[in-house]
Amino acid sequence: AQDHALLELRGIVYKYGAISALRDVDLSVRKGEAVCVIGPNGAGKTTLARVAGGLYRPAKGEVLIGGEPLPRSPHDVVVRGIGSVLEGRHLFVEQTVTTNLELGCYRSGLDKATVEQRLEKIMTLFPVLRERAHQRTSTMSGGEQQMVAIGRALMAEPQILILDEPSMGLAPKITGEVFDALASLREGGLSILLIEQNAPLAFELADRGYLMRQGAVVVEGSIDELTHDDVVRSAYLGA
Ligand code: ATP
Repeated sequence: AQDHALLELRGIVYKYGAISALRDVDLSVRKGEAVCVIGPNGAGKTTLARVAGGLYRPAKGEVLIGGEPLPRSPHDVVVRGIGSVLEGRHLFVEQTVTTNLELGCYRSGLDKATVEQRLEKIMTLFPVLRERAHQRTSTMSGGEQQMVAIGRALMAEPQILILDEPSMGLAPKITGEVFDALASLREGGLSILLIEQNAPLAFELADRGYLMRQGAVVVEGSIDELTHDDVVRSAYLGA
């Protein structure tokens, strides 16, 4: 079993009432790999991110982390090494940057020095967060808030980071900063599952990808394979 994926989704079916949002989806992320999921609105990408991160329970199929079923409680999911950065970010906007970051590991019982070390790492990754450490997050730009959301997930030192549309609504410059940080995290060995509408951007970061449509995976492969795929090229790369 040395080859099992870090994160694996097998035969996932998810329904909102009568609507099938995911129809038999298989997906995996190996250790150290960055994997992207692209696809049009309504393809099921957000639902997939939430199932993979343990927030939604599938009607059928299983989610495995390190070959074991995902735990039921959100806290245990974090303990098993999954960090999620959801669409909408879900920050405590009346709280400061530092408080939001600290909330990323408040249940882990870490000593103060370890929390400080982790804060330090995140502020090195995102220098603007050091400057804004005591500022309320509600007063920050969308891009800065996205950095806080990513930083909060990193505070628990996950093995894999699941990101749902991190570039949504951000200016190109700050999107570039966010993606540079993700690239450096990847270099450092973090596994990434990136849900992203912007295919060229996703392809710069990822090793492999999946194209979803109407709740199903329609194309999967290496980034090289995807960039040569006719469907991907015509719909997502402007070819
Ligand atoms: P987007 O980029 O627009 O968020 P997506 O690819 O992330 O799209 P999902 O948000 O996962 O897609 O939605 C998949 C399908 O499930 C869509 O048909 C959507 O309308 C439906 N859906 C999503 N959330 C709900 C909900 N809470 N109740 C009912 N249907 C839902």
